[in-house]
Amino acid sequence: MRGWSAARQRLFAGSVAVIENRSMDPLRSNGIMRRLPLGSVRPMGWLRAQMLRDLDEGFAGRLDELSPHVARDLFAHRLEAAVGQTAWWDAESRGNWLWGYAMLAHLCDAPAHRERVDRLVRTLRSTQDSDGYVGIHAPVARYPSGEVENGELWSQSRALLALLAHHELTGEPASLDAARSAADLTLQQYGDARPHFGRRSTVEDRTGMTHGLCYTDALQWLHEITGDERYRQFAQWFLRDFDSWEVPFPNDDLCAANLADPGRSLRGHAVHTVEHLRALAFASPDATRIDRALRKLLLSTTPSGAVIGDESLHGLPRPDAAYEYCSLTELLFSLGRLAQRLADPALGDWMERLAFNAAQGARQPNGRAIAYLCSDTRVDALASSPDSYSLLTGRHGRFKLSATHDDVACCCNPNATRLLPHYVAAMWFAPCTSPGLVAMSYGPSELQTVVAGCNVTVRQDTAYPFEDEIRFAVSVAAPLRMVLWLRMPAWADAVELDGVTGKEQDRWLVIDRLWQQDLEFKLRIHCPVRVEPYAGGGVAVLRGPLQFVQPIRHRTRTLRPLAVETWHDEELLPLDITDVAAAVPLLDASVPDLGFATRCEPTRESGTPWDRESLRLVRAGLTLVPMGCAPLRRALFLLRD
Ligand SMILES: [Zn+2]
Repeated sequence: MRGWSAARQRLFAGSVAVIENRSMDPLRSNGIMRRLPLGSVRPMGWLRAQMLRDLDEGFAGRLDELSPHVARDLFAHRLEAAVGQTAWWDAESRGNWLWGYAMLAHLCDAPAHRERVDRLVRTLRSTQDSDGYVGIHAPVARYPSGEVENGELWSQSRALLALLAHHELTGEPASLDAARSAADLTLQQYGDARPHFGRRSTVEDRTGMTHGLCYTDALQWLHEITGDERYRQFAQWFLRDFDSWEVPFPNDDLCAANLADPGRSLRGHAVHTVEHLRALAFASPDATRIDRALRKLLLSTTPSGAVIGDESLHGLPRPDAAYEYCSLTELLFSLGRLAQRLADPALGDWMERLAFNAAQGARQPNGRAIAYLCSDTRVDALASSPDSYSLLTGRHGRFKLSATHDDVACCCNPNATRLLPHYVAAMWFAPCTSPGLVAMSYGPSELQTVVAGCNVTVRQDTAYPFEDEIRFAVSVAAPLRMVLWLRMPAWADAVELDGVTGKEQDRWLVIDRLWQQDLEFKLRIHCPVRVEPYAGGGVAVLRGPLQFVQPIRHRTRTLRPLAVETWHDEELLPLDITDVAAAVPLLDASVPDLGFATRCEPTRESGTPWDRESLRLVRAGLTLVPMGCAPLRRALFLLRD
């Protein structure tokens, strides 16, 4: 992956060490690492507190009450026709929410939510026909082939992923059986004689059809659980089917022809572009194709970890370039799958950036609202602000804060419920060929798994990224020879182990030993304050995975009421526009830590750190806070000559 490492060096200058990947050969000899079943890693500390608060106070636990689009069940009340871009939308909304809600409720072990999720999943299972069909179409409209817009496989995949998540989290065989028989039926419907994707170049809308490439998400999961090669073979055929469509066609950024063209910029719907990475991660035998996709994506990535797109992908990732919440969730999910395939620690760095900056900066800490579109620098959050889609459709409203956004499209809010569960699920992997565990990203959590037949528990006691120390507690049921691979973040100028010995290999700390009973040790990550360039000039300020910004004082304005009392859409406005117009602060890169002192307040278990500014960078006349703590903010700074 030299190419993408070099591209990352250019974009994330100041945080980069060249990654040779030699040390990862033992992990990569089989091409990929093994994903651990959902529920193996459980959130603790602030991560669990935030997820529980989202369930109890936020929209995550009640999105079906708040939005009629989530309440409407197309899996039970099917469509008679397969055409029309908006026909399948409510199935996406409901499916993604149910998937996210199931992961939140079970990962947090929240009994009332767990029971409701289980009822909702049983209802979904009850919609299955005797031939196995799970989907949104009446028999007359099923399995349209090529050349027409349809959301058949996209919506099917949303149902299957909710079922597969439920199976892994609960062990219920009925949820796996339902997903498996539904997929087996679909596999019989498509093939060379009946392609899913089109063949003739078109610029007409094919949103649902091109989302359908993510049917590979369900295929990969089924392949992992069952070991049945038919699922992988179908995924490989499905990607070839996508590649057989003559360019240009909608959302064709990652098709083989366009990726082979170094002069062809990304320009599709950003959500499609980032979600299609997963089809490459699972079904592309050609790793250089993934390399090309990552190199292009980095050119559209902000220091906060987001791939821009409002909703189309265009322009440069400047501080005020907008990104969609859906693309944050889909990108994070894709990065986890890519990390599994490539074992590149830079992907762990990216996951942390995205989860701790862009994803927090576009939501309220209490989980009651998100912005559909947001940006690193945010001087207001107004319903009237235009974006590239509103200029075409006349529908504004993506920059405000909402629990549903269903006046535009209820896509981002359901997807937001999946974000932290995807982060937690991709914290740990296992090498395919040798006993061990790989820590790809960090945070308060507990891993329970089996290595070489032995029960292993690894606890991360930490407030990371709000502290630089992670206290590991490893417990094995019997003596076990095992390698623990700990990612060394590229932004660390040093890492230190206390209580165990390990050796550095490229960007991994490798602890190879005989583990007996319980062992506690500490990992300390030394993080200088640093700058990274923004496209078009100026810099971002970061420390560890966190991006720091200058807050702009703000007020809130209430907009339309939602279906549940006390819930409203909101706008954010600056209190005083002179704050917005103030001169951009100058920073001196020749001074250690840019002259900032780090101020830290301990994080209590009961709260989330994003509404308390528990970490600040302070120097004379300037206090910076994490992006997720500043609803309105300036992310751009200038360096003194
Ligand atoms: Zn969205």
